[in-house]
Amino acid sequence: MSSFKENQAWKEASIAEDKTFRPVKANGGRRKAPFYKVLTGMPIAVDAFRYGAIPGVTAYFLSHAHSDHYTNLSSSWKSGPIYCSEVTANLIIYMLSVDKKWIRPLPMDTPTIIPDTGGVQVTLIEANHCPGSCLFLFEGHQTVNAGDSTFRSTFVGSSRMFRYLHCGDFRASPRHIMHPAMAGKKIDCVYLDTTYLNPRYTFPPQPLVISACAELSRRLFAGEPTTVNKTMKSWLPSLPSLKPTAGTKGRILVVVGTYSIGKERIVKAIANALDSKIYCDARKTALLRCEDDRELESMLTSRPLEATVHLVPLGTITTDRLKIYMDRFDGTFTRVIGFRPTGWTYTQPAGTDQLPSIASILARTSQKDFTYVDLHQSPKSTSSIQVYGVPYSEHSSFYELTCFAMSFNWLKVVATVNVNSESSRGKMTKWVERWEGERRKRGTDILVTPRREDYW
Ligand SMILES: [Zn+2]
Repeated sequence: MSSFKENQAWKEASIAEDKTFRPVKANGGRRKAPFYKVLTGMPIAVDAFRYGAIPGVTAYFLSHAHSDHYTNLSSSWKSGPIYCSEVTANLIIYMLSVDKKWIRPLPMDTPTIIPDTGGVQVTLIEANHCPGSCLFLFEGHQTVNAGDSTFRSTFVGSSRMFRYLHCGDFRASPRHIMHPAMAGKKIDCVYLDTTYLNPRYTFPPQPLVISACAELSRRLFAGEPTTVNKTMKSWLPSLPSLKPTAGTKGRILVVVGTYSIGKERIVKAIANALDSKIYCDARKTALLRCEDDRELESMLTSRPLEATVHLVPLGTITTDRLKIYMDRFDGTFTRVIGFRPTGWTYTQPAGTDQLPSIASILARTSQKDFTYVDLHQSPKSTSSIQVYGVPYSEHSSFYELTCFAMSFNWLKVVATVNVNSESSRGKMTKWVERWEGERRKRGTDILVTPRREDYW
């Protein structure tokens, strides 16, 4: 698609996505799907359930079971087969009562030909987002101009092979680049989760944050120091140890906040560090049981006093609400540690360059560490109720998006998040152009040396 045609396509998309837009009867009472919801030249839509039966589309893909991706999917869905991972299939059957006859769960990591798509093959790659989330690598010929967009690809009917990588929502990791289905391949178009495509978002690698929360919890329970006084250069003592013995009064409780599915890894790591079970209410337990995570299932308990780690809605993690929550257990817990994992916690040091060069982005971030001393209590914390904001995200940081984009061969990037304003799209396009420029300068397939196989 030329840049002129792409601008036209975005204009159409803006009209289709306009919140004040009312679908007209002549259009079957449905919204038009923006061009990026339907793969160019293929009868395949991704995360596009709100548009009903899209013209020409024969296969509907769902990247993961978060509500903004399955909007309008319900028990009355009848527009075509839905392809997703096994876990996502479990979740949408349980949460949305989607009729099983439409659901086609696909195995992970296994190239599979999708019926009625002109032979397009798909491989599901773990997205490093919530349970069941995946990237879709589509490979095949362009056979049809499906969808509502007026753009018509001239490659339809040609013998050229196309490869599209749809990232759904993901936290980019070297594992994505090293996946056997990706190795050495040139991707024609990357549909990119651009949630944090802005250098303001510089939160630390997820494995380090998870370890930091686990280690902080372990230290609090062991009565070991948890903070370092930088001016004194000495350790400050923490409160006395309270061992987690079931049945006794005056214990410490750790409470982790989450919304919907996702962030289970942080809860498991804390519970493992404390050798504790995990308690959550019956509704949440039923959801977690859809996730096919045997380790997690073996840790769950329906008895709150049996667990030192509780999983609650994110909104409960405030000092006021945690006091009320703790008081429900009649003195069993006298101190509560709340973890509030959210991608928005981290603030950049003042004076950070907002338009850094790619080289400086790579240099300034690649050596940064994150440990339990980097976790800070909120100012409202008291001696018995301590709330920690955790810079934990299941979307890629700006640095990770940059490392990802610099590490494999692609022709084009289409943003799928924050696309509704022209100025936001313009800023994102600038970054994509910088990635392209840097790759031209350094040559393609330059892998940013990862610190570990699961983060850069
Ligand atoms: Zn998501």
